[in-house]
Amino acid sequence: MPNRNLNTLELKKVNTLLGRVRKSILEYSNGDLDLEFALRRKIYKELTYDERGKPHLRMKLKKKKRVSQNNLCTSCKQILPLKYAVLDRLNAKDGYTEENTNLICPDCDTEIQRSRSYK
Ligand SMILES: [Zn+2]
Repeated sequence: MPNRNLNTLELKKVNTLLGRVRKSILEYSNGDLDLEFALRRKIYKELTYDERGKPHLRMKLKKKKRVSQNNLCTSCKQILPLKYAVLDRLNAKDGYTEENTNLICPDCDTEIQRSRSYK
């Protein structure tokens, strides 16, 4: 399922929100460039966690999926590499859950991402 895109009005609102966040960072850091950097980085990291969950939970899920899939890529049915296997979400908005993910090899991930971007 393709991810929902924002319409023109929603994009305008997001840009307004982003402008407010940037302004708040500048006000809060008050010229302290190290603090400004740290604030931006913290907000980026926390928003990424909101989108993708915490890394240790994804690692735990990867291990579980590897066992439940008998160490095979769900797409090409080949043995998964020890490193760089990818947790692929069926519907990105539904997050990293057992039901919503497949563990796939990097080659299949590249192919799946490519096919999704053409839709
Ligand atoms: Zn594969």
